[in-house]
Amino acid sequence: MELVNTHCHSRYCGHGVGEVAAYADAAAAAGLTTLAFTEHFPLSHAFDPDGYLSVPVADMPAYLAAVEQARRDHPGMEIICGCEMDYLAADEDRVLSAADLAPFELILGSVHFVDAWPFDDPAQRGAWDEPGAPDRIWRRYAEVWCQAAADPAQPFHVMSHPDLAKKFGFYPSFDRAPLYEAMAEAAAAGGRMVEVNTSGSYYACAEMFPAPALLAAFCRAGVPCTVGTDAHDPANVARDIERGYALMAQAGYRCVTVPTRSGDRREVPLA
Ligand SMILES: [Zn+2]
Ligand SMILES: [Zn+2]
Repeated sequence: MELVNTHCHSRYCGHGVGEVAAYADAAAAAGLTTLAFTEHFPLSHAFDPDGYLSVPVADMPAYLAAVEQARRDHPGMEIICGCEMDYLAADEDRVLSAADLAPFELILGSVHFVDAWPFDDPAQRGAWDEPGAPDRIWRRYAEVWCQAAADPAQPFHVMSHPDLAKKFGFYPSFDRAPLYEAMAEAAAAGGRMVEVNTSGSYYACAEMFPAPALLAAFCRAGVPCTVGTDAHDPANVARDIERGYALMAQAGYRCVTVPTRSGDRREVPLA
């Protein structure tokens, strides 16, 4: 069946490697029909003083031009110009206008920060060892994620890596099922898609995002699901896409939903 990837990064963010062209070439070689570039939308200097987490503002025109060029080089593949946008809740310090968002055909909504703290940054891993930290962080993470997913004022099309809080392999002492139900309700209320993000298998949590039980909750709530590899290296542009489809099928999905350049969605049966 068709292979699609709706989430990848490049050397334009400080922690990715590889040119946009190299991702497009690798995707074409792997036979992808849709590839979305979703570079990290610029954060303020306060959140990203070294330009490590996101694309520096000054580099955005070059990123957009590189995506345009990739499109000309690969007319047979749908190349979507997107971005991954951090949800910062009350700590938001950027003023985003419609013009800032206009270049993007796909916007991923991501929670990498709770209360301005980057909980999934490897440099912050030690904080998870504090007594009670996993319970506290998971509760707050789910709360912030639900706000982001349900808020109609946010521009997000897809909510990325829904249970990113598990990245380092820390889990709360309580049953996560009620959080999963709340997250599914929030995504449905906001009309969002979610993604199976295949990169999770390569972190300490050793499974894709989201967990099977959370994905099943999204399916029951009627939340459409797409697949992204979250590649930060061209070598991973097609990594585990078929395994992502299998996870979706096990969770009850019959189709993978694929966003299009026009802002529409199309469905590909999970045969
Ligand atoms: Zn992310
Ligand atoms: Zn990403």
